[in-house]
Amino acid sequence: MQPTFLTTPGLARFARNIDDERRGQIAEYGEQQHPDGTGGLDRDLLADGLFQEAQAALQEGTVTWRHALEMMTAAVAAETDPAELRTLLVRTAAVCAAWAQDIDSRPHPMVCAHCGEQIETNEIQNTWVGPLKQPGTPKCAAPRFHIDRPECRAASDRACDEQAEAYRARTAVRSADPAVRHGQGDGS
Ligand SMILES: [Zn+2]
Repeated sequence: MQPTFLTTPGLARFARNIDDERRGQIAEYGEQQHPDGTGGLDRDLLADGLFQEAQAALQEGTVTWRHALEMMTAAVAAETDPAELRTLLVRTAAVCAAWAQDIDSRPHPMVCAHCGEQIETNEIQNTWVGPLKQPGTPKCAAPRFHIDRPECRAASDRACDEQAEAYRARTAVRSADPAVRHGQGDGS
């Protein structure tokens, strides 16, 4: 594999995720070949309507990622020129990458995953516990629990146990990896 250096923040991770998805698709369906199926007056009108809606939202300061992605997918569906279509597909993927990066960079809402109540924060001590954040999970979606409420701590312990169990299951599958064998201390 050629090394690829991606400089946009978060894009390397997004590209790895896409690589995983594509490999999964190819494994399941093979390389697919279909007609484009794009174009037509209805789709032109829809694309134009969504473009106008997104522009209005942008000017009112109420634009959302949903506006951006719907506008792009409608433009794709309306386009029939293969070169333009390809440009729009890349542009749509860039909107998806930007949206994912925005989700990945959001602060945690600090709502307890057990009781659903706010977790107070202060600068002196940790006020939450929880399992390690999993690769591919955005920080804002990783479960956190009250450190000072026994029932919430117990829920955190259960979440940590489940994560450790899942990790053991994964590493067992990969135990052909010498680094993992070493880590397992099999004495060889
Ligand atoms: Zn709680």
